[in-house]
Amino acid sequence: MNSLLLENLEPRTQSISNSEWQKKRISCSMLRLDELDKNISGNKIFKLYYFLQQAIQQKKGIVTFGGAWSNHLAATASACKRYGIACIGFVRGEQPQTITSTLHFCLKNDMQLKFVNRSLYNDIKSANDNTLFSIEDNVIIPEGGYSPVGAKGAAIIRNYFRNKEFTHVCVAIGTATTFAGLLNNNDECTYLGFTSLKNMTDIDTRIKFLTGNSNQLNYEIIKDYHFGGFAKHNDELIEFMNNFYLTYNIPLDFVYTGKMMYGVVNIINANYFPENSRILCIHTGGLHGNQGLPPNTFIF
Ligand SMILES: *Cc1c(COP(=O)(O)O)cnc(C)c1O
Repeated sequence: MNSLLLENLEPRTQSISNSEWQKKRISCSMLRLDELDKNISGNKIFKLYYFLQQAIQQKKGIVTFGGAWSNHLAATASACKRYGIACIGFVRGEQPQTITSTLHFCLKNDMQLKFVNRSLYNDIKSANDNTLFSIEDNVIIPEGGYSPVGAKGAAIIRNYFRNKEFTHVCVAIGTATTFAGLLNNNDECTYLGFTSLKNMTDIDTRIKFLTGNSNQLNYEIIKDYHFGGFAKHNDELIEFMNNFYLTYNIPLDFVYTGKMMYGVVNIINANYFPENSRILCIHTGGLHGNQGLPPNTFIF
């Protein structure tokens, strides 16, 4: 995969400090993975990396899973198109009359979509039902890339910041695959994970599974900024995101990075971070999910 976008790219790190934070001696920056590729959302290409490599080397197709707004499905479709890999996406739920823009994007990228009801979806996902595709001919990627292989791919993101002396690295959590991939006790920094789901109580277990490491890793989970649950939102969040764009010219997504940045700004203002903190926030992309909201919700 020599032309895979990971090899030659250097995403920029953009300062998002302001004078109030400077008075607290706190600096804050954002790693713009959202700018790496307009079709393959920020963190997703990393989670897919080793799966794609395996499919190419073994000349196999790819099978994966997701919901109607899944950034993971969209990224997989786009990456498979780029590398000429046949792919099937199982979509949870009956086929609706009009499909979402995310699924439309998948079709445009030649992903074969199969709509399956929840119970069949779960059976296929947990490998209890293998009748709808060939196991031998496909690399199977778990939903959201949730697997040690996905986490290993996410670890590549560390290369973009690990020698830059950040004290804290902030990441949005969905399946926790990206977050787990970044954790590394060789780093001096503390990793802060911001959950986008309500009642996520199994993160420590997930991290042990994803990293294969049962030692205590250096992280903290911030659970106060899910805004009611996955993809839930309110006017305050939308207004925050529009203001954030006006101030820094950075578009955020309302499912993950918008909530994370709302949380980061809040905890900086509440003096969570000690003096001389150097905070890095990872922009994990996901912007096309914003199309799920009415037009003109965002000014970007
Ligand atoms: C998918 C996604 C995440 C969640 O990543 P996980 O590895 O599942 O935790 C975070 N941010 C954005 C923008 C995403 O699209």
